[in-house]
Amino acid sequence: MTSNRMPNRATLLAQAGHFIDAATRGVVPPIHNSTTFARDENYALVGPSSYARGGTPAWDEVEALLAALDGGEAAMVFASGLAAATAVFEPLRSGQHVVAPRIMYHGLQDWLRRLAEVRGIGLTLVDPTNLAEVEAAMRPGETAILWIETLLNPTWDVVNIAACADIAHKAGARLGVDATVTPPVTCRPIEHGADIVFHSATKYLNGHSDVMGGALISTKADDHWAEIKQVRLLVGGVMGPFEAWLLLRGMRTLEVLYARAAANAMAIATHLNDHPALSHVLYPGLPSHPGHETAARQMEGGFGAMLSLRTKGGEAAANRIVRNVKAFLPATSLGGVESLIEHRFVVEGFHSEVPCDLLRISVGIESVDDLIADLDQALDSL
Ligand code: PLP
Repeated sequence: MTSNRMPNRATLLAQAGHFIDAATRGVVPPIHNSTTFARDENYALVGPSSYARGGTPAWDEVEALLAALDGGEAAMVFASGLAAATAVFEPLRSGQHVVAPRIMYHGLQDWLRRLAEVRGIGLTLVDPTNLAEVEAAMRPGETAILWIETLLNPTWDVVNIAACADIAHKAGARLGVDATVTPPVTCRPIEHGADIVFHSATKYLNGHSDVMGGALISTKADDHWAEIKQVRLLVGGVMGPFEAWLLLRGMRTLEVLYARAAANAMAIATHLNDHPALSHVLYPGLPSHPGHETAARQMEGGFGAMLSLRTKGGEAAANRIVRNVKAFLPATSLGGVESLIEHRFVVEGFHSEVPCDLLRISVGIESVDDLIADLDQALDSL
């Protein structure tokens, strides 16, 4: 880039870590696997840190990219999504309070329940699409964090980020947003007032189902952020240099992966919308979806690549579809190039409020004709 103009996101991504190695003229960054960095003759630190739990060059590249994409002052990567998300709550003191969705990524909700039990932290679960319920749950002076997901997993109900930011701030709380299913090529919660954004980098950011990782992006590098950084150092849920290098590699194609997957999802949802074997097609891109207008305001370039189907034939029909599809892998997770399908209730366990007839689909970048033909044959064989 020759001008001083800030490059567009597609360019930032495609050229992530762009580099010409002075020694080799290599065009991708090397991987520094060293866990320790030598001091100089004055015993001063000259490397990225004294020890790789506190910092390694591969983090710098990916964190700078994440902060730029999401529009935050700073970013941090972690060993997994859960290592990152739980670090947001670690600084809370007993007596403080958290408000979180009743239907959300179940692993984090399980951890929040545990936090409430063992640390004396209050937890209220709400439906964040019901703003009056959210407002009523806030305890000014006590509620430290209002946590939401941009699209609730796995119903894909749309949460109004700006309205939640107002409610959180009025009560003196921070708004934390799990944006895993809406990476920054489509939604940037900081632009809508969020204080901290979380991504399971295991999903779209990496995009290939072969790296575990988590990321946080903060509007401000404030005291809470400094405490989170301390948690990462002391608890040690850090991302390895190879994973950080792979994550950067995956992110170079995020824009094209997400655009293709979202277009495929829209085509599938539209095709299946009136299918006689289905009671609901849950996808915010459908104009009939109750959150469609909010999604259109908060997202650009599509409505995401996650959708859920509810069958009229209940759990048995849902299970038959999973067994009958061939182009969709029967596996959990999301955000990779390959399409996945799962019976979500089984995955979430006994706390789950997810209906037993619901199938969650992560749409990949395969030919949409193949995906539609496969779903058609699985539904026809019910
Ligand atoms: N948030 C969402 C929406 C998720 O789907 C997941 C994982 O499935 C997580 C958080 C947790 O991330 P990880 O599995 O990388 O720890």
